[in-house]
Amino acid sequence: MEAKKVLEDLQRRFPGEPEYHQAVEEVLTTIEEEYNKHPEFDKMNLIERLCIPDRIYQFRVTWVDDSGNVQTNMGYRIQHNNAIGPYKGGLRFHKSVNLSILKFLAFEQTFKNSLTTLPMGGAKGGSDFSPRGKSNAEVMRFCQAFMLELTKHIGPDVDVPAGDIGVGGREVGFLFGMYKKLTHEFSGVLTGKGLEYGGSLIRPEATGYGNVYFLQEMLKTRGETVKGKKVLISGAGNVAQYTAEKVLQLGGTVLTMSDSDGYIYDPDGIDREKLDYIMDLKNILRGRIYEYVEQYPTAKYVAGQKPWGEKADIALPCATQNEIDEDAAKQLVANGVRAVSEGANMPSTPGAIRVFQEAKILYAPGKASNAGGVSVSGLEMTQNSERLGWGAEEVDGKLHWIMENIHANCVKYGTEADGYVNYVKGANVAGFMKVAKAMMAQGIV
Ligand code: NDP
Repeated sequence: MEAKKVLEDLQRRFPGEPEYHQAVEEVLTTIEEEYNKHPEFDKMNLIERLCIPDRIYQFRVTWVDDSGNVQTNMGYRIQHNNAIGPYKGGLRFHKSVNLSILKFLAFEQTFKNSLTTLPMGGAKGGSDFSPRGKSNAEVMRFCQAFMLELTKHIGPDVDVPAGDIGVGGREVGFLFGMYKKLTHEFSGVLTGKGLEYGGSLIRPEATGYGNVYFLQEMLKTRGETVKGKKVLISGAGNVAQYTAEKVLQLGGTVLTMSDSDGYIYDPDGIDREKLDYIMDLKNILRGRIYEYVEQYPTAKYVAGQKPWGEKADIALPCATQNEIDEDAAKQLVANGVRAVSEGANMPSTPGAIRVFQEAKILYAPGKASNAGGVSVSGLEMTQNSERLGWGAEEVDGKLHWIMENIHANCVKYGTEADGYVNYVKGANVAGFMKVAKAMMAQGIV
């Protein structure tokens, strides 16, 4: 396999999908060497079968807003690969959603899920509907209309969606209610459910906590800990909130959080009380991050900017893809940042990753460091199958073990001759090998 050629072919066959091409390029260039040690893979054209999704559903979602207007949005589900388990991956509701973004996310999800050691294939879905500025009733009607179509393609042993940007506990509840109504069946068809109806303890916390557990493992390799470190976090949603919570628990100082309009910088640190304020602001009041400085006037709000120009020891991007470009990465390194662990999916551009790796700082790609979310989703599926609920300590302990294990696998497959751990290569090779072996065993399907 020649990574460059495969990529060129995919670019020709699927034009106008830059995020998908970006994700594929990152994986292909890092697994090329390992792949070519196995001529049997190429004989089965494994690489094309792994890059192109198994199937893609696209549908129109029609709903009525509060003023009685009929609205239409697009709905999607990409079922990328189910070689090692039922399709599994989140739903994203955001105005920027398109096929390219969902294809990149489904592709990444396949490797991430493989890394968790749990039996889950890769998928992703969503809509260009954004819950921002919509009433509860509008969000409910949209979720119901979306599920009216999606229900035909999912099931507890077929495809198990979860949350992502714009899809939190509220949306999962509405989606689950409609699935149940349509199928006349109470099953573990979605994860991220409420505790009262089959959800798992620690699922809301899992992506953020897992991100920081992974960071801890990376720091350990250099004899360091989170305690006393200054941390930049982007985003103010689910992943950012629980990343911040775990950093605080471990004695770090959180200096920034953000949303798509700008960021806040608190020189005194965002402590527990201030984080509680942000959680209420975002989760209940559905407000904007600038409101923080009205509550805590010693902090500043910077409109239209990302937090990467601020001085710190650690950066944890937890908002969205391509939020750290090459210039921002240079700025982070110049300002003394020694570790970057991604809570978001693909937040660093290829240029930014190059900067981090050339500077030999600790850098974890999302598919390794944010795998805690889908891991606890996998544990939620197990609990649903058992019809049992585990305690928080048990789930958190398993999450911790999974993150340590992913880290160990990255070190195993990603350590370079000079001892530097290339976590991108480690995660991609480890994730790829398991899926590849399963596909080989299952023949040409
Ligand atoms: P939320 O919707 O809870 O929060 C998203 C946050 O990111 C918000 O603060 C949002 O601001 C901001 N944001 C969204 N889009 C943009 C944008 N285009 N530019 C700048 N800021 C933006 O989502 P999550 O916290 O669940 O997801 C965040 C990231 O983590 C995503 O990349 C997701 O794929 C990834 N992830 C999530 C997992 C999970 O379990 N939820 C699991 C693994 C990865 P605003 O309010 O202005 O939109």
